[in-house]
Amino acid sequence: MAYPVQKHRTITPPYAPGRDEFFVTNTDHSLETLLTQAGHFVDPETGAIVPPIHPSTTYRRDDRYELHGFEYSRIANPTGRHVEEVLASLEGAEDALLFSSGLAGVSTFLETVNSGQRIVAPRVMYHGAADWLRRLAERRGMDVAFFDATAPDALEHAVLAGETAVVWIEPSVNPTWDVIDVRTASETAHAAGAILAVDATVTPAVTLRALDLGADIVFHSGTKYLAGHSDVTAGVLATRTVDARWDEIRRARTLMGGVLGPFESWLLLRGMRTLHLRYERQSANALAIARHFENHPGLEAVLYPGLESHPGHAIAARQMNGGFGAMLSLLVAGDADDARRVATRTRLFVPATSLGGVESLIEHRATVEGPDSIVPANLLRLSVGVERVDELIADLEQALA
Ligand SMILES: *Cc1c(COP(=O)(O)O)cnc(C)c1O
Repeated sequence: MAYPVQKHRTITPPYAPGRDEFFVTNTDHSLETLLTQAGHFVDPETGAIVPPIHPSTTYRRDDRYELHGFEYSRIANPTGRHVEEVLASLEGAEDALLFSSGLAGVSTFLETVNSGQRIVAPRVMYHGAADWLRRLAERRGMDVAFFDATAPDALEHAVLAGETAVVWIEPSVNPTWDVIDVRTASETAHAAGAILAVDATVTPAVTLRALDLGADIVFHSGTKYLAGHSDVTAGVLATRTVDARWDEIRRARTLMGGVLGPFESWLLLRGMRTLHLRYERQSANALAIARHFENHPGLEAVLYPGLESHPGHAIAARQMNGGFGAMLSLLVAGDADDARRVATRTRLFVPATSLGGVESLIEHRATVEGPDSIVPANLLRLSVGVERVDELIADLEQALA
């Protein structure tokens, strides 16, 4: 599967003045090659092809009392900065920032919205971000409007011209995987004077290029596909342009303190080197599972944008060029107890929350979200991994039997 070849931004060494060879800046390569080579890194002093981990919290001034790029680790650290440069290249962004978790990125971003301004988001979306939006509406006077992603024109009606600061979307909404047209959403947001922020956690740039489709800000829970091994918690924001809003986000990260540590930054980059391979295999596995179970008597429905029967399939096919992703949901024929029972019978699919790791997970989403959940009671969410797909299918077959 071929991902787009693009001209990457030149990666400049932020903390090594005079060491212009720190990164190889011939950047006319595909995303696969960029990722595999961790931003074409070679340390000119040692020849090391793996970036170092810099644990230092503070940075010496020179004999003119000048700093050389870094000052204190809550502001930025060299290991994290390297990862941010690679992420900016991956997204086609002017800049990227790492956060200590996905939600640290979300809450820091939302610091740039003032009370009284409107934020528009889908009614079904990642529940943690939705919880925080509701809290901002209750405690901080923000005007939060949720729209029905399955209804045509619902976004257009929710976006009030002149009053809306941010439209926040997920290209495939979690956990029903209804598809939102990113290009159309960006046009709607911009026409109202708002920016479009895209939670691309389940649709990373190896399949969907949010900035190319008109987004202004791209968000990732790096905990998921970017890191890919269920062993690091991280968040990412990337921006189309370094503007006043971006400066404010950077300032808010420094002052709110949600930075990612050097070791976690390094682990994230280590995982990103195989993002394209994992995503391709996981998408292929998910498509095979979705097709196999589409008409299964134990299920009411299989929700997966890669199925031709899915209402969002045509849009997904247009905006996802590297696979339909590895997230799908099963509506079990029965109630919450029946669904939970299936989730306790699998032997390969691990009954656990989260997604995007190499191992397959299954969860009863309504239980995880709690009593306020609007997710169907019979919904099981699958995060499909890189195991052999015939064994995954057999596992679900025996659990549903
Ligand atoms: C996990 C997730 C988040 C939150 O990220 P954390 O790293 O858990 O803080 C946000 N959006 C989506 C779609 C997610 O899956």
